[in-house]
Amino acid sequence: MSPRNLALSPDVHAYLLGVSLREPPVLAALRAATAPRAEAGMQISPEQGQFMALLVRLMGARRCIEVGTYTGYSALAVALALPADGTIVACDVSEEFTQVGRPFWREAGVADKITLRIQPALATLDELLALPGGRGGYDFAFVDADKDNYIPYYERLLQLVRTGGLIAIDNTLALSSVPILHLETPAAIAMKAFNAHVHQDARVDLSMLPIGEGLTLLRVL
Ligand code: CA
Repeated sequence: MSPRNLALSPDVHAYLLGVSLREPPVLAALRAATAPRAEAGMQISPEQGQFMALLVRLMGARRCIEVGTYTGYSALAVALALPADGTIVACDVSEEFTQVGRPFWREAGVADKITLRIQPALATLDELLALPGGRGGYDFAFVDADKDNYIPYYERLLQLVRTGGLIAIDNTLALSSVPILHLETPAAIAMKAFNAHVHQDARVDLSMLPIGEGLTLLRVL
């Protein structure tokens, strides 16, 4: 048994995708539509989308929250994994980015499962907390947004996600392919503060995965 994780060389990564990726054509089409954009690195990888879809199915999640939608790939991956009555509240501040994804949500037949809220996500999370059934009313949450607010997002999601539910946090190891360990940018400092915040947090079970740019899974106790 190896004591460390495998750093994926390009050929090993290509092999991983070749023998395991099952990206639905509509997700591949959204990825292709996003690829030419200057900030396309903000999109999660297809294998991460497939992993999150597996988690959602494994949990039988019905009500989900996403903080940071970008062009809608992760929301679409999750929505496709939800049961017929499943829903996801997708939070973003950009009309421009999210517009890219909406035609693909419709094409996939899941547009009615996705409620897009264009405003600062903290405001949306506070509104959800104030709604009847909001507190503890969600099964799964994914955060991939402005790093400075990760701790406030997490604190609100801890109240919104039910006991036994899951909060998945993106970029806990790297930003734009650079390990946060080697960075002192404001975003990297915020991510290190977030990691320290949750490491010994007795309110959650935790596992940090070296998938994509680092994905921390937090199960609400
Ligand atoms: Ca990310």
